[in-house]
Amino acid sequence: MRYCSTRGRAPSVSFEEALLAGLAPDGGLYMPEEWPHFSSADIARFKGQSFAAIACAVLSPFVGDTFTDGELAEMCEHAFANFTHPAVAPLRQIGDDEWILELFHGPTLAFKDVAMQLLGLMFEKVLAKRDQKLTIIGATSGDTGGAAIEALKNKARLNVFILHPEGKISAVQRKIMTTSGAANIFNIAVDGTFDDCQSIVKTLFGEREFAQNVALGGVNSINWARIAIQSVYYFASAVALGAPDRKLSYCVPTGNFGDIFAGFVAHKMGLPIHRLCAATNQNDIVHRVLQTGDYQPTKVNATTSPSMDIQVASNFERLIFEMSGRDSDQVRALMACQKQSGGFTLPKTLFEKMSPLFTSQMASEKEVIVCMKEHFESSSYLIDPHTAVGCVVAKKIADRERDHTGTMVTLSTAHPAKFPESVVAATGQTPSLPKSMEDLYDRPEVMSHCAADPAAIRAFILGHAQTV
Ligand SMILES: *Cc1c(COP(=O)(O)O)cnc(C)c1O
Repeated sequence: MRYCSTRGRAPSVSFEEALLAGLAPDGGLYMPEEWPHFSSADIARFKGQSFAAIACAVLSPFVGDTFTDGELAEMCEHAFANFTHPAVAPLRQIGDDEWILELFHGPTLAFKDVAMQLLGLMFEKVLAKRDQKLTIIGATSGDTGGAAIEALKNKARLNVFILHPEGKISAVQRKIMTTSGAANIFNIAVDGTFDDCQSIVKTLFGEREFAQNVALGGVNSINWARIAIQSVYYFASAVALGAPDRKLSYCVPTGNFGDIFAGFVAHKMGLPIHRLCAATNQNDIVHRVLQTGDYQPTKVNATTSPSMDIQVASNFERLIFEMSGRDSDQVRALMACQKQSGGFTLPKTLFEKMSPLFTSQMASEKEVIVCMKEHFESSSYLIDPHTAVGCVVAKKIADRERDHTGTMVTLSTAHPAKFPESVVAATGQTPSLPKSMEDLYDRPEVMSHCAADPAAIRAFILGHAQTV
């Protein structure tokens, strides 16, 4: 399998190269040149298989000859063994035809562990084969950073620099990132928003010489490997619920559009998904673009679901690419418009292609709190605010179009103990941290502070990365 850039001005690369690079050199995002396809019979055969086995089958066509089947199988076994639930991603029934897919049983209590645990092993294996080092930089709205650090800490050949918006993430999120104690991990608290952090990362990737000097790699959801790995839980959960014979829809708490795009990937590969519902909080750019075709960033508002407090949904570019019939000229034109004037309007034909599959809704802060409270009161089940955004939206959409959605699965993207303040405020209950993390609050923190300025971050990285 080869990968091309959404902007069409970069050479095609192997899985290994896409894995290491993150962003393509023309500023685009990597996409597989064609979609692997699974027939209904192939999908039916996943039934009863372990999560690791399904992962191996789904990912094998994507990794091509970067790993042998044996290597891939071994890495999948190893990566998902770090999850505290034997099913890795268990389902929980919350209504007649409504389910929650719990994706938070990994080491940092958020869905990002699913991809990151495997990504860390892939990096390690590829770098060892190439006898190379890599400098990872990533921006985090709270959960990516922790998941990356947990997956990459103490790995030889890797230095990891994670930028987070200072004061805008939860204490547990910060603690998970800053207490690794690993010498190859550098946390930088940036005086700005998540979008500032993400834009700095993009700028540094664009600086060819710097990027080459420090052998820059990325772990944000722009990294194709993460998207591919996330498509696995769509397959695993769908099959557990009766796919390919059962009509299913997914509701996905959405920020950067990575997780929901992974659902789209599963759909492209043959998994019958009826609706992909994007659930946003008040930072609703994705909801607005899916409803109107207008992609117009506004100011970021802080909410109780900080991992979705963003106004730039990077992976949306991948959807534009695909829905435009892989027209990279059109992608470039829209992205140039975004760069110049902040936003863009999708051409009508392109927009109309999205609506049969994609839909969206927004959840207000008030609705989120009521939803957490109701779940606790009706079933003693604590959900985190991101999951609550998903549940509010799933209900709105199911009420509106029950016949179209069929069974609705809401992705639960974080453990309630990761956002205890909001959970307590809504339910009066303090969610407890899993045993392995009980002493989290006592662990010493290490982090640096920096202005929201690419030059300052560049200097910090140059001062701390071992050059290759
Ligand atoms: C990252 C994150 C999201 C948003 O996922 P995207 O792939 O950015 O759309 C939702 N919930 C939680 C808890 C997250 O960490």
